[in-house]
Amino acid sequence: MLVGFLNKEDSKLKNPATLKFSSGVNGDRDFRTGMESYKHNNPTTPKTQKRWLTFLGLTLLAGAIVILAHSQLFAVAAKPIQNSTPNLATSPAFFLPVAKPHPLPPTLAQWQDHTHSGDYFSQVEKTEVGYLVWSQFPIRVYVEIPKAIAPEAAQAWVSTVLKAVQQWSIYLPIKVVETSQLADIIILQKVPPLQISPDNKIPRARSALTTYVLYATDNTLRHRFTILLHPGQTGKYLLAAARHELGHALGIWGHSPLKSDALYFSQVTNPPPISPRDVNTLKRVYEQSTSLGWTLPK
Ligand SMILES: [Zn+2]
Repeated sequence: MLVGFLNKEDSKLKNPATLKFSSGVNGDRDFRTGMESYKHNNPTTPKTQKRWLTFLGLTLLAGAIVILAHSQLFAVAAKPIQNSTPNLATSPAFFLPVAKPHPLPPTLAQWQDHTHSGDYFSQVEKTEVGYLVWSQFPIRVYVEIPKAIAPEAAQAWVSTVLKAVQQWSIYLPIKVVETSQLADIIILQKVPPLQISPDNKIPRARSALTTYVLYATDNTLRHRFTILLHPGQTGKYLLAAARHELGHALGIWGHSPLKSDALYFSQVTNPPPISPRDVNTLKRVYEQSTSLGWTLPK
């Protein structure tokens, strides 16, 4: 059952004049609205909630992405969307499992960066539940076939997204599954909701939006990701967007300051492949503590 949800977004600017690079991963966080929706969705008492509950927060990764080639896609003014998150850390409704590290997946344990390129782990956010580490492998990914476009175009879209999945599967065991119910990560072709940042009243379109929800199953805290990829993205830009968002969903909940990394906060003309710095960062994330994948306290 859904407890709450967190999200991370990547945006394109509606108007280049509003270009503003958000200072960090959580620049647009607002817990208040999220708390309201949390209460609304979970009207039971804290005790009875225990088995049902979940909690979610909405964490916004506010990297501003500028894609001039597609800026016309965002020429429409829109109603602002509020993004929010319940603050799990301060919610009295439940207790999180004690955060501990999981064993490092062999694929990452074996990884050696002979180029000594370093990492950008300092830019990765520690969430209310710790780092967003997967502990059950393979990670199950579902890629929905777009229905609103011609079958050939839909197939090309799925193939491109699967290429990004395959690129990451070198570093973490990933399996593509046929139904969304079984998936840990769901990837959809869908226009992400527009966003308004607190200090900027102009709605910003997003090229992609990645969100996660927390839930409990078998008394264990789990998470699930949804990635929305804008239908306007095609070719190498679609591949880059899918690669970037998958990086978030696999645990890199932050952005690189370097253009040569897949998790750079903005899209670039010639998107780079997954870099040694991306993998070094991913490996460091998987060495960290998390409440995910551990048993909820009684
Ligand atoms: Zn991003």
